[in-house]
Amino acid sequence: MADVLELHGGVSEDWLQRRDDEYARYLESDRWHKLRKAKKLSAKGKCEICERRYGTQLAHLGYDRIFAERLVDVLWVCGPCHKELDGK
Ligand SMILES: [Zn+2]
Repeated sequence: MADVLELHGGVSEDWLQRRDDEYARYLESDRWHKLRKAKKLSAKGKCEICERRYGTQLAHLGYDRIFAERLVDVLWVCGPCHKELDGK
């Protein structure tokens, strides 16, 4: 989540807390699960970054359309690659 906070620097703590709650709920939503499934299928289960390990999660490439992501805004990735992506 660190990169989200940076993108929205200057907003109130309260707003960020609400955004975090909303985001946590969103990750449990039907929409997110469908996106996840679609990406996993299109990547044939493999991590789209290293293409070696099997992916386990969906990563955001950008947060411009957060809550309304398109397939191009997300990647099916393995744990180590997701960490690296978010750490940049
Ligand atoms: Zn990977």
